[in-house]
Amino acid sequence: MGGRTSAVRVGVDVGGTKTLCVVVDESGTIIARVREPTLPWERSVSATVILAVNKTLDMAWSRFGRRERDDGPGEPKLVSVGIGIPGMVDHRTGKVHQAVNLGSGVGDIGDAVRDAFHVPVTVDNDVNAAAMGVYRYCCPGSRELVFLNLGTGVAAGIVLQGRLFRGMSGVAGEIGHVPLDPTGALCRCGQRGCAETMVSGHALSRIWPVSKGYPGEDLLLRARDGEVRAVEVWHGFGLNVARLIEMITATFDPADIFIGGGVSSIGDPLMRVIRHGISRLESESSFVRSLDMCDRIHLADQDIPVGALGAAFLSEEPVALRASHEIRPSYKQGE
Ligand SMILES: [Zn+2]
Repeated sequence: MGGRTSAVRVGVDVGGTKTLCVVVDESGTIIARVREPTLPWERSVSATVILAVNKTLDMAWSRFGRRERDDGPGEPKLVSVGIGIPGMVDHRTGKVHQAVNLGSGVGDIGDAVRDAFHVPVTVDNDVNAAAMGVYRYCCPGSRELVFLNLGTGVAAGIVLQGRLFRGMSGVAGEIGHVPLDPTGALCRCGQRGCAETMVSGHALSRIWPVSKGYPGEDLLLRARDGEVRAVEVWHGFGLNVARLIEMITATFDPADIFIGGGVSSIGDPLMRVIRHGISRLESESSFVRSLDMCDRIHLADQDIPVGALGAAFLSEEPVALRASHEIRPSYKQGE
């Protein structure tokens, strides 16, 4: 590679079982990537990330023809590390409040990584990072884009005008906990019938329990074989995803909605059943027909590690320095 690249960024996608780390150059091309098993709990998650970043940087430097890192003139230089992690993250401080499947306090992972590499570190939730990755690598011209993650949980990452939209407290996109059926199954959040209880990987294993293999795969195979109950459940699943897409469309009017996450590995059959669900909604409403939802939805490319790539560019996002409560008007003034 000849060492012509002057700046490199690191992006880390922390998953429940695996952590993927990439080094990219200024154009966003991947120079090195490493996958490490995630060791849960606070210190170990930080240690996993630091180990993965070190290994990936070593690989990158060796590709530049160097045995060691140094900051000599003209040498490639690490400018930032971005980390996408499942859970509630305050991206302004990098504090992780609730890390799903990783233990209760992965809290200060940003500080630990900053101390290890002495560069700016940005931490955000994994779905926001993936949304940024989809925007940069799959659909860079899109003005409004939503990444819908159908994984163990359900959430959306929203990119408006090329920037992540997080809302006042970072809760924007937590659509997995919008109740679609108030009489439905109890959700881990305490409500009933949340989207997450209906269209997540977890939901699939609840509504279609199997003794071995993957519920989605089994359900699809049986639906293809014409098993009446399976066809009904599979189409019901597609209809619920369609309802969620309608909610996203009516809220943000995005030109592009990319569907990713573990459930999306089902691939084209998933897109077909969602389109079938959309058609059912359209058949009942001219409003729904006017939304042209089938033209907006795409399957996220499974071969592009959007979570890690998006994380590499999190540091380019502007950081709100003031907490939002500081800019609310104070009604006590002048009393
Ligand atoms: Zn919920």
